[in-house]
Amino acid sequence: MTTTYRIDATSGNPVAIPNWVHPRIRAWAEQNNITPWSHQAQVWDAWHDGFDACVTTPTGSGKTLAFTIPILETLINSQDTHILAIFPLKALANDQINTMRQLLAQHEMAHLVGVIDGDTPHAERVHLLATRRVIVTNPYILHANMGKDIWRAWLKTLTLTICDEIHTYSGVFGSEMAWVFRRLWRLAGRGLWNQSGRVITASATLADPLGHILDLMDRDGVVLVDRSGAATPARTWLVAPFSPDNLIASIEQQIRANAQTLVYANTRSSVEQIARQLSVAFPETVIKAYRSGYPQPIREGIERELREGTLRVVVSTSALATGIDIGGLDTVVMADLPPDASILKQVAGRAGRRGQGATIIVLPNPNTPVGALLLNRGGIQQLLNRTAAASAQLHNPVILDRQLLLMAAELPLLPTNAPVMADLPIRRALRRLEAENKIVLKSDGFAPTHRIAPHSLMIQADGSIPLILDDEIIDRLSKERATTQYAPQHLVTYRGQSYRCFWTKQSATASMSESFRVELRHLTTEESATIMHTQPSIHRTVTYQRSIATENSAFAVITGDVLVTARVEKLITTYATGERASKTYSRPLLASYKTRGLSIQLASPVDHGFVHSLLLEAEDRLGVSSSEVAEYHTANQITFYDRDGERGAVDIISDHIDSLIASARQRIISCGCARGCLNCVVVMHCKDDVSKDLAPHAVYSLADRDHVVLQPVPKDDEPDRAGPTLRTRNG
Ligand SMILES: [Zn+2]
Ligand SMILES: [Zn+2]
Repeated sequence: MTTTYRIDATSGNPVAIPNWVHPRIRAWAEQNNITPWSHQAQVWDAWHDGFDACVTTPTGSGKTLAFTIPILETLINSQDTHILAIFPLKALANDQINTMRQLLAQHEMAHLVGVIDGDTPHAERVHLLATRRVIVTNPYILHANMGKDIWRAWLKTLTLTICDEIHTYSGVFGSEMAWVFRRLWRLAGRGLWNQSGRVITASATLADPLGHILDLMDRDGVVLVDRSGAATPARTWLVAPFSPDNLIASIEQQIRANAQTLVYANTRSSVEQIARQLSVAFPETVIKAYRSGYPQPIREGIERELREGTLRVVVSTSALATGIDIGGLDTVVMADLPPDASILKQVAGRAGRRGQGATIIVLPNPNTPVGALLLNRGGIQQLLNRTAAASAQLHNPVILDRQLLLMAAELPLLPTNAPVMADLPIRRALRRLEAENKIVLKSDGFAPTHRIAPHSLMIQADGSIPLILDDEIIDRLSKERATTQYAPQHLVTYRGQSYRCFWTKQSATASMSESFRVELRHLTTEESATIMHTQPSIHRTVTYQRSIATENSAFAVITGDVLVTARVEKLITTYATGERASKTYSRPLLASYKTRGLSIQLASPVDHGFVHSLLLEAEDRLGVSSSEVAEYHTANQITFYDRDGERGAVDIISDHIDSLIASARQRIISCGCARGCLNCVVVMHCKDDVSKDLAPHAVYSLADRDHVVLQPVPKDDEPDRAGPTLRTRNG
């Protein structure tokens, strides 16, 4: 049972180099047989005519060349102007920057480029900012450093900003970046808003890219270049049900055909397990695991082997999906389904070399709703056709205060140098900060009353608990991850070896505390041969500090602090013989953290299909992804909460909850499918059955009442353990 879907190759639309391009560059292009695709020339023309440009053509369509000609022209035609190129963190060692450098090197300009990332020592940064006209950096470095004197001096003559992958600047991160760009425009171009030259952006396909640029960067008059003129290879998608045999068979085919293959798995632990199973099945072939959490030299070694073609099969999480220079592969095999469509597209984009066809094999679990849909004709097309949205908003309360204070610290706030102050919610925030004595109005504008240090923009997925192997720290774990994935006695695979986890505790309690270390110890050969898999059972309990019910609505929306507890009560060990053993912890292992939550209390039970349609709405309209917000539901209650480490996703959802509920309802009712599809109630990350018939049940109970009450909970209130009471309008 295999479904096939083919996308034909396209021949592309090459055009001549525009006449205005400097003769030196034209001569070089002729010598090197460089003919631009139509979309590349469109970006150059837009820039040359004095406009910003945004290019949204697919991966591999040559965005680097689109960026590089305006950079070269700027460098040739002026002496003291600066160019800032912002790439996502993981992309700083990537093909684009290497290609860009090579192109500049051919014009003897590579010495004008400096790359500044988290590993660049301070002295080196000072040197680069003093000597380089092109600085390549990432959003985190920019946010944390642009207010420093050496950066400000460099930014004064900024005339061109390149910003790649702006679709990733979405949700919470997008909201932070909306402030980062406004701060940047203030510091660039001698403090005059939007006098900082031109901006060229690149993005994956977005529902409204120009709207996103307006929100994110406060820039309009942008020329959108969205029709690719690049030639593309043919792609073949094969979908078959997942089984260990099917996985082995598809890898065997690829090995026989000597096709360089990426096997995708969702989690670090399944990457390790699959790599191990495949190594056992194909002892002649070198098969390596790749994931974040490995030391840098090991990852770089694997990347090199892939680039050089010596490594033929790699098993990886999405860590290899974009940005890293490994060249084109022949085949991608998805042993797991990625959590959302955009990651699926990114991973699939790894297959395909110039002039050669690509194969993508998807092996979904047939017993899940999404698996059943994908195994039907049309399922893959539906997934590939989903166009995401991106959002960036200035009013997120978690982000607003600290970014506004940073902005004031960098340059006193005046309406003339910060047009954002005309915005009513921001004027209100300023007034509040003034009342709280955090800012003060001086003769040259609002300034903070005390020193402000930039907060970290990094997602705090990794935490403080060291993971130790042979006395060396190999990773850092959050409490939740340590508890649920590295429980004592749990077996884990790391780079092909089995280890048992031990907690070295310094305190007497059974719950996780900062003073714990997790140690991995080698198993004896005998054990590693017999024990296949251990699985913790996890309960997440959400406890409200306080809930508020309303008298006149059938449902209530409550925001407040929630306590999220991950709980492990027992370990189940499955042996190679099929035998199972379980160990119950005398005291359950707990990892708790307090975070922001939003809960919808429903009068009648709801199928979780409705939760899915809400999540799809949040993703499609607000750009909030499931990596930013977690979800927990019971029959009568849906709770969203910010993941470990304060982020502010809940505040974005809470701002739009009225329209989200209305449009989630509309999404289900208006979808033409019979039983539920990827456009209404089925999401990729959920394995449980959903019912489109039951989902509207709750939707209708919400439908007639368009009144939603948002009630923030004061932070330090006494917890009310009794839980909410709920009365409907009718009773
Ligand atoms: Zn549907
Ligand atoms: Zn679900």
